[in-house]
Amino acid sequence: MARVFNFSAGPAALPEEVLRQAADEMVDWRGSGASVMEMSHRGKEFMGIAAQAEADLRELMDIPANYKVLFLQGGASLQFEMIPINLLRGKPVADYVHTGEWAKKAIKAAKTFCNVNVAASAEDKSFTYAPAFADWKLTQDAAYVHYTANETIGGVEFHWTPKTGDVPLVCDMSSNILSKPIDVSKYGLIYAGAQKNIGPAGLTIVIVREDLVGKAQPTPPAMLDYKTHVEAGSMYNTPPTYAIYVAGLVFQWLKRQGGVATMERKNIEKAQFLYGYLDATEFYRNPVRREDRSRMNIPFTLKDAALDETFLKGAKERGMVQLKGHRSVGGMRASIYNAMPQTGVAALVDYLREFEKNHG
Ligand SMILES: *Cc1c(COP(=O)(O)O)cnc(C)c1O
Repeated sequence: MARVFNFSAGPAALPEEVLRQAADEMVDWRGSGASVMEMSHRGKEFMGIAAQAEADLRELMDIPANYKVLFLQGGASLQFEMIPINLLRGKPVADYVHTGEWAKKAIKAAKTFCNVNVAASAEDKSFTYAPAFADWKLTQDAAYVHYTANETIGGVEFHWTPKTGDVPLVCDMSSNILSKPIDVSKYGLIYAGAQKNIGPAGLTIVIVREDLVGKAQPTPPAMLDYKTHVEAGSMYNTPPTYAIYVAGLVFQWLKRQGGVATMERKNIEKAQFLYGYLDATEFYRNPVRREDRSRMNIPFTLKDAALDETFLKGAKERGMVQLKGHRSVGGMRASIYNAMPQTGVAALVDYLREFEKNHG
């Protein structure tokens, strides 16, 4: 059976090469006689797999030595809670930037633990832009500043990094991590669920500056304390071993592609190709301010919502799936992460053109 072009926002498509390698190694990992799924997380083989994955991620993102890399579980959603629990450090206020559905969830979770100052919000224009840094009303001596680098549902992405001085910058990079080079040293903490642009669901990556670990007040339950996981090398309890292994294969694949700078070039090309077509017609529409448009998640509406089901059915017949927009915004959404090849975007644009011709 031929593989489809999968435009899902997450869990999302993985590189076919990675899936084939995982399949080849599924039953007998490199002569060990066992599947990675069956290995002890404390055994030599799996320890090697995890160490290689961390080393490759460090290389790809150029992560400085004073940052810890954690392989955790619980998704980005658990980080919405672990971040205030660990980073408030006795301070009463944290600053959050409100850019849409995911920022909203992060804010709601933080409110359980502290006063949240919404330093900037794009609610006035239905979350269709990234508020300019000059308009952020930051709290002096806030515990940290949190923002969402890419709003997966709204399709709004920051193409710049805020400068928060001595106040740690905390970023939800779930849906655009590894899509472009970033300067990790500008952040106090970066987190991302793996199932968008890294690998299988079940793994969450946290990159945290060393001096922010172990300062939680009061001391959290062990599983919720970054310190526990740092000290145990992410093996305090059984980690999501198979997800770490597949993420590691993706890191190796990214290195073979030429790393994140090459991915950025390809991601810009793919996104420009799709936006270029959407903008050139009256039939389709993307509502996001041009300079803040996401390269990863591209929501769009058809001129007549009554055509949505017909559109999706035709897409499926042509081997393109998961284009239905999030229930909160309707319409369509094409998620085109690293693993989506240019040929998939080209096939979508061909279909957009054909559909408009037949229904416009
Ligand atoms: C998917 C997503 C989340 C939630 O991730 P879970 O792993 O399901 O908790 C949070 N933030 C962003 C930006 C996302 O795309």
